[in-house]
Amino acid sequence: MASQPRGKVVIDPDECKGCGLCVESCPPECLVLAPELSKYGVHPARYTGQDCTGCGACFYCCPEPGAITVYRLKPPAKIVPTAVTQNAEVANEAAL
Ligand code: SF4
Ligand code: SF4
Repeated sequence: MASQPRGKVVIDPDECKGCGLCVESCPPECLVLAPELSKYGVHPARYTGQDCTGCGACFYCCPEPGAITVYRLKPPAKIVPTAVTQNAEVANEAAL
């Protein structure tokens, strides 16, 4: 089963200058330089769409303010087994 994504990154191709620093810095290697050229004639960085952990390494190494936005995704709420057990005990007591 695939793990829940922990982060998401959005790159603005109009701000990116195609230096590739973010691609080199990304631990899970989920950034690439796009094959097509931007309107500035560079290959902008692009998120592959999976495996971002939200670590922020790409954001901190990017020399262009506003080119990268990193989102840390909220983990899904955990089910607390003790609450289920307590409810079950209450239900048993009520039945006695
Ligand atoms: S570090 Fe910034 S400017 Fe360089 S490729 Fe990545 S997003 Fe573009
Ligand atoms: S936040 Fe971390 S994992 Fe996500 S794209 Fe940037 S460097 Fe890679």
